[in-house]
Amino acid sequence: MRQIRIGNGYDVHALREELPMWLGGIRIEHNKGFVAHSDGDVLVHALCDALLGALSLGDIGLHFPDNAQEFKGIDSKILLRKCMELVGERGYRLGNADCTILAQAPKLRPYIDRMRETLAPLLGVTIDDVSVKATTTERLGFTGREEGVAVYATVLLYRE
Ligand code: MG
Repeated sequence: MRQIRIGNGYDVHALREELPMWLGGIRIEHNKGFVAHSDGDVLVHALCDALLGALSLGDIGLHFPDNAQEFKGIDSKILLRKCMELVGERGYRLGNADCTILAQAPKLRPYIDRMRETLAPLLGVTIDDVSVKATTTERLGFTGREEGVAVYATVLLYRE
């Protein structure tokens, strides 16, 4: 019998001018980027939390403490790879992932497919199994004021 497990993740990072923006594993052209200990890739962090959550393995802060020197400025894709190793060690594979980015700016549509192409091999799936969506919050709240970006991620894992 196929065993399935679901996980969700949520992350927020503050925006600051003249920092590079990394989102969904790729570099985004924008006048602001994320304040973070790592590269601040809020989408990848939400995905990591969803993967860990699906297996009840705690959260990203437990596995990759943000005061640890080894993770300073780290490419978040390395953290995602480590989370997928934990998934694989337990005999699970990713079924699909669905992510929603809450950002007022920049317009993310032109970047979405490149994010999916970047994330799919890291997750061991094809791009059909990686959904990335973006929405504004109609200028409401911290995302609407462009103070930060939030991402929700949901994953389904299975074991045959
Ligand atoms: Mg984070």
